[in-house]
Amino acid sequence: MVAVYCLGIESTAHTFGASVVSEKGEVLSDVRDTCASKPGTGIHPREAADHHSEVAAKVVSDALSRAEITGGQLDGVAVALGPGLGPCLRVGATVARAMASWLEKPLVPVNHAIGHIEIGTLTTGARDPLVVLVSGGHTAILAFSGGKWRVFGETEDITLGNLYDMFAREIDLPSPAGPQIEKLASKSSNFVSLPYVVKGNDVSYSGLLTASLAKLRSGASLADVCYSMQEVSCSMLTEAVERSLAYTRKKEVLLTGGVAANGTLQKKLAEMVALHDAVPRIVAQPYTGDCGAQIAWAGMLALRAGETAEIADTRVRPRWRLEDVPIPWRTNSA
Ligand code: AMP
Ligand code: MG
Repeated sequence: MVAVYCLGIESTAHTFGASVVSEKGEVLSDVRDTCASKPGTGIHPREAADHHSEVAAKVVSDALSRAEITGGQLDGVAVALGPGLGPCLRVGATVARAMASWLEKPLVPVNHAIGHIEIGTLTTGARDPLVVLVSGGHTAILAFSGGKWRVFGETEDITLGNLYDMFAREIDLPSPAGPQIEKLASKSSNFVSLPYVVKGNDVSYSGLLTASLAKLRSGASLADVCYSMQEVSCSMLTEAVERSLAYTRKKEVLLTGGVAANGTLQKKLAEMVALHDAVPRIVAQPYTGDCGAQIAWAGMLALRAGETAEIADTRVRPRWRLEDVPIPWRTNSA
């Protein structure tokens, strides 16, 4: 269908975001409000949902006014229905259902992880990349094949973002803590030995978390442990990505999601990718972390492909796997 403007609503975890994009891929507005957790704790789903309920009306109306359009000019309302935290997802879904029904516009369900991929391809110009998706909820290596994104490798337990956030929680830093861990790591170049676990195309980070905390408790400095944990975790992922790259022979590698902001990961990945005559495509801030723009743009692509839903079919999907999502707007395949 012909669509000019799409509103996107994001509420899967700590951020409530809203954004308007045009059919050409211009991000006309991208407003967000993030619920900061208390030091030493993670995201509390109920508290984050209460936060989202409080800020939703203002975030959405700011997104429309900054884009200089009215609700009536929208061609669709896209919303992240999952994966994510149930109470948080329900806030975004309720707002989107109410708006779509009031404005009599199509409602477009979006998988949050697909949003990370699509905002990545939009903003970096990647066409048919091997995707490294590193967010709070995902550590996955993906390639497009047969109409869907296929998982070539992933974490067997916690994600890379969880590793940093769970370590930070134990030392009383507020979550999400990736940037603080990166800052602490930059103060050291003294490597302490930690377990490196790659199994084929997969990585496993839970042993690294336990061992890093044990090193700290046995007297190693915080900067040394952060530096070493970051080195090991990013090298592990780079090795797993290299195996998938050698197999798929893709010419581009897209790094997307919140942890894509990490300089060490960017550097290791870029060096490895160059050895395979491929090009790194690294999502830049502000589109690394969760935002309405990723939902609005993936929603625009889905809307144009006719992927809309009746309100009765828009229950939240906290465990929605990205490899279950049909992608009719993408034709190139591995
Ligand atoms: P997302 O779910 O996409 O918003 O990503 C959030 C995750 O990204 C959290 O686990 C953060 O700790 C992590 N993160 C954000 N910035 C950085 C960074 N500079 N280095 C490492 N992790 C980061
Ligand atoms: Mg995310």
